[in-house]
Amino acid sequence: MHIPYYRAIAKEHEVFEHAYTCKIPFLLKGPTGTGKSRFIEHMAYKLKTKLITISCHEETSSTDLIGRFILKGAETIWLDGPLTTAIKEGHILYLDEIAEARPDVIVAIHSLTDHRRELFIDKLGETIKAHPDFMLVASFNPGYQRGFKELKPSTRQRFAAISFHYPEAKIETEILVSETGIENDVAKKLVNIATKIRNLTELGLTETVSTRLLVDAAKLIHAGLPKRLAVHVAIVEPLTDDLEVIQALKDLSDLMI
Ligand code: ADP
Repeated sequence: MHIPYYRAIAKEHEVFEHAYTCKIPFLLKGPTGTGKSRFIEHMAYKLKTKLITISCHEETSSTDLIGRFILKGAETIWLDGPLTTAIKEGHILYLDEIAEARPDVIVAIHSLTDHRRELFIDKLGETIKAHPDFMLVASFNPGYQRGFKELKPSTRQRFAAISFHYPEAKIETEILVSETGIENDVAKKLVNIATKIRNLTELGLTETVSTRLLVDAAKLIHAGLPKRLAVHVAIVEPLTDDLEVIQALKDLSDLMI
């Protein structure tokens, strides 16, 4: 496997490498589709360490992370969860969208995010010390608009953090070209459409055009789908279900590509 492509925006490589050396828990903040997951995949590869990713959702509990007893034939056996495995073997554990998880997840990781670096497994009555190479990384979408879950300040302060944003136009164009092989000119137009829509704050979209949506549109165009149609299905439709807004955004983007 090649190193996952990640275009650095600022000093995130340097910062993360030092955090890894110090094993300081790390938070990647930013809207969806801004390269947080890609960044951690890239860094894990670069640092030659295994990455275990958990996509958190509202049902994700500490049991899912730590482990559980399961029935095997007539016997009950203990099965380590991904967090326990990462702690024992010394991997990076990435909790994607940590704020979505149930509150007991946050409680469970407390003792791992301070000087103790240990995990208490209540079902076994055991405390395990983290492997020196274990590191906890989480992502969080601060979502300044409605519908987003918050992360308590006391939890946030257990992490060092960097913010991810939509990259500036030149860099985002470069990402589209590198990711999909699309022509520079077309990539530029897609980025212009994104910039335009991102500035239309009056639409009140919960989330605006992410780099991920642009990459999807670019892939479809590169595969041969007509450009306007690709923009409609990959950029406009995923943004909203409001028919009037959809029509307005289609009209706007048709003029730009
Ligand atoms: P997030 O985890 O922030 O939701 P991802 O890491 O999944 O977002 O990014 C979505 C897609 O956007 C990636 O698959 C990649 O194609 C592209 N992308 C975004 N930012 C970058 C970047 N800086 N370098 C390379 N690809 C990027």
